[in-house]
Amino acid sequence: MKKVGIVLTSLLLMAGLVAGCGSTPPTATPTNGVSADVKAIKDKGVLKVGTKVDVPKFGYKDPTTGKVEGFEIDLANAISKKILGTEKIETSAVTAKTRGPLLDSGDVDLVIATFTVNEERKKSYNFSDPYFTDGVRLLVKKSANIKSLKDLDGKKIGVAQAATSKKAIQEQADKIGAKVTFLEFATYPEIKTALDSGRVDCFSVDGAILLGYLDDSTTILADSFSPQEYGVASKKGNDGLAKAVNETIADLKKSGELDKMIQKWGIK
Ligand code: GLU
Repeated sequence: MKKVGIVLTSLLLMAGLVAGCGSTPPTATPTNGVSADVKAIKDKGVLKVGTKVDVPKFGYKDPTTGKVEGFEIDLANAISKKILGTEKIETSAVTAKTRGPLLDSGDVDLVIATFTVNEERKKSYNFSDPYFTDGVRLLVKKSANIKSLKDLDGKKIGVAQAATSKKAIQEQADKIGAKVTFLEFATYPEIKTALDSGRVDCFSVDGAILLGYLDDSTTILADSFSPQEYGVASKKGNDGLAKAVNETIADLKKSGELDKMIQKWGIK
């Protein structure tokens, strides 16, 4: 019985190997210098990009026009131009929680959505060289009389699930000896609501994202820590695409176009 099992396992393994040899890996040998992943996008004639729709100036859906616009949309169009020769993108709304799974499922080719590059995430996705650097910041009620992270000792901080914020604040709080607790939410509007209702004393995420939630009753503290370098993410294995993205970013940096885009959106 044991022998039969071993023979069967070997046969299955061999069959798997043969099947493996026949199938085409995502980035097969380039044909005419174009990798299979880039060719697939050219064949579709459109670049599918996951972007934020609730981060003004980065990726934001204008409620009056219904158009998604911002610095990261411009960047997506520049990458499309490089690959397709024309600005032809199709955007899908993502959150910190959904952007990885949407890449995994192939629903989007790229994620350009305030996605911080870090070592852990690099194990799951290809990340481009950084195109923008932000910092983790703190939004509080003006009436709360909180001036810095130290004043949040013993208080609750609202953060987004799957975001880098919690770890970054914890590290900084440990450094200065402040004891803070966290409440995690799926979306940013939920954190703002929690701040307004007093469920949390602070809403923390990257400064760029917080700007979209600043109003007359709130203020963003001067503290800014844990530099957040944003990169364009693609699926592991789509190395031709990752290369095209990096080349686009390098070109934009070299020509000064990236700085112009940053100035255009006033996000320095
Ligand atoms: N940039 C941070 C991150 O990647 C904040 C979360 C977000 O981008 O929504 O985790």
